[in-house]
Amino acid sequence: MVNYFSTRGGGGPVSASEAILKGLADDGGLFFPDHIPTLTKSLKELSGMSYQEVAYEVMQPFLSDYTEEELKGCIKNAYDSKFDTEAIAPLAYADGAYYLELFHGATIAFKDMALSILPHLMITAARKNHIKNDIVILTATSGDTGKAALAGFADVKGTKIIVFYPKNGVSPIQEKQMVTQKGDNTFVVGIHGNFDDAQNGVKKIFGDRELGKLMDDNGYQFSSANSINIGRLVPQIVYYVYAYAQLLKEGKIADSEPVNVVVPTGNFGNILAAYFAKNMGLPIAKLICASNENKVLFDFFRTGVYDRNRDFVLTSSPSMDILISSNLERLIYLIAGSDAEKNRELMMQLSTSGKYEITPEMQEKLHDFYGGYATEEETAKTIASLYENCGYVIDPHTAVASCVYRKYKEQTKDETKTIIASTASPYKFTRSVMSAIDKGFDGLEDFALADKLSALSGVKIPEAIEGIRTAPVLHDTVCEKDQMADVVKKYLGI
Ligand SMILES: *Cc1c(COP(=O)(O)O)cnc(C)c1O
Repeated sequence: MVNYFSTRGGGGPVSASEAILKGLADDGGLFFPDHIPTLTKSLKELSGMSYQEVAYEVMQPFLSDYTEEELKGCIKNAYDSKFDTEAIAPLAYADGAYYLELFHGATIAFKDMALSILPHLMITAARKNHIKNDIVILTATSGDTGKAALAGFADVKGTKIIVFYPKNGVSPIQEKQMVTQKGDNTFVVGIHGNFDDAQNGVKKIFGDRELGKLMDDNGYQFSSANSINIGRLVPQIVYYVYAYAQLLKEGKIADSEPVNVVVPTGNFGNILAAYFAKNMGLPIAKLICASNENKVLFDFFRTGVYDRNRDFVLTSSPSMDILISSNLERLIYLIAGSDAEKNRELMMQLSTSGKYEITPEMQEKLHDFYGGYATEEETAKTIASLYENCGYVIDPHTAVASCVYRKYKEQTKDETKTIIASTASPYKFTRSVMSAIDKGFDGLEDFALADKLSALSGVKIPEAIEGIRTAPVLHDTVCEKDQMADVVKKYLGI
């Protein structure tokens, strides 16, 4: 049985389903399991299983208050024909690394891996906990979460979803994907501010007790689909285990052979899932954390100082344009020796002065991690060279990881086989991708670029892009960053 506590010590223990419903703990901390369970099946056994079967084996110990029937039902509803390949998360080999393609879901980015199952986990949790209120999902997005959450929750009975995104901080395709979202329980709002403003605004609304009371009086309660929700983290562990099992099955690695994992990182959710996989017993050697020019995490791993006081850079990998990596709090809690008091102190420093420094003992515990970053120029060059050498086209987020991996290998001479998390389809960032390959494409409009990309990569344009070519805009609300709560109230009619 796994129960969950807040990383800041307040409240708990709560069951997995309660943690999924709440999203964030009452004291502002994140839910953390009382222990990290080990894999229940050998890697050899797992290598004979489908994605759905591996998902059950990996998730079940974390979600121990869900019955077998409930969890299997959630998995079946999530990982179905919404994905364009039966493998769900296939591996592609290019230029000395395995690219774990996490973009075969409905919105062609890795957020689909968790957000296609979260609504089912949440509805099941509501039923289990006798919740009568409608669940209102409130989400801040740097681009990909928003659309994946909208797609996951659209028309799910008993839920409403409100998404805030930085009006000028997402790609045109990302924006078009969101503002064309159907479903009469969906609401999309642009804010004048950056992603951190959107995320802070959402956190503030969650912490607003008065509003919480007003919601409850009107038959609503908030929950979060952001990557801080344990219901996002747990499904993300699955594909690391699955990828390893596939490499084993295909004879690409020997039994128990360690592999490195490289993750293009923003909010620290994806790489934290890989760390959980390692702690469950998956033979991962190094966890390579790749940042873009917003390199707070690179600096943190190098110096032990987390410092968000710096200019926010808009890059070609907008889903990683983040200065406060929320999920890092879980790692801080862990390396503080599960000391909630110590963690809380550091998080308070982060909120008051924008920085904190960990102790040398804590830093010692980070030796499994390696931080690196790629500049905009390096990222574009990586896209071009991978295409020229292998004919394989990657998106700018994946390119950041690929570049950091190349630099890591040059620096360390580490020849350990390596999995790179490929977090978005190049079709989601066609303009940056095509410009990196040949500046001559710069004059073309978005959909013409998609046609060119298809011709050049031999990969068919995904339905997620085809579908929005002609779709009407259904959402056009824009607000100031301090008006977010008012917008929510207005939408809910309270
Ligand atoms: C969200 C996202 C990331 C960052 O993942 P985190 O879990 O926030 O670190 C990287 N790439 C893409 C394409 C994303 O959508």
